[in-house]
Amino acid sequence: MQDDLYREIILEHWKNPQNYRVLSDNDIDITEQNKSCGDTIRLMIKFKDGKITEIAFLGDGCAISKASASMLTEQIKNMKISSLNKLTQDKVLQNLGLNLTPARMKCALLSFVALKKSLDYYQPKNAKDKK
Ligand code: ZN
Repeated sequence: MQDDLYREIILEHWKNPQNYRVLSDNDIDITEQNKSCGDTIRLMIKFKDGKITEIAFLGDGCAISKASASMLTEQIKNMKISSLNKLTQDKVLQNLGLNLTPARMKCALLSFVALKKSLDYYQPKNAKDKK
């Protein structure tokens, strides 16, 4: 029962993805590929005052990769970097609410991998700005 509800949410995000556009004024523009399925996610982020102020993505691939990126960007928009650092892949998967096979999990976590790389890239570069 619960599964059907989640499936519908995924389907809705796939058909009508949120934050699906180019964000040209960005701090991060990263493209991540999932070779096992052929998915590509391009994640673009704008940071300000220690949080994400704008986020957008483009994607090419299966429904899971696209829908999960849509859900993730909705979830983390306006989130502080300190909270983002605490975001785990378990929480992301929990938010998706699907029982996924290991192969599908890679699809679902592609945008999360891109996010983690973005943070790794952004934080050392801007650490000196912190007080
Ligand atoms: Zn996939």
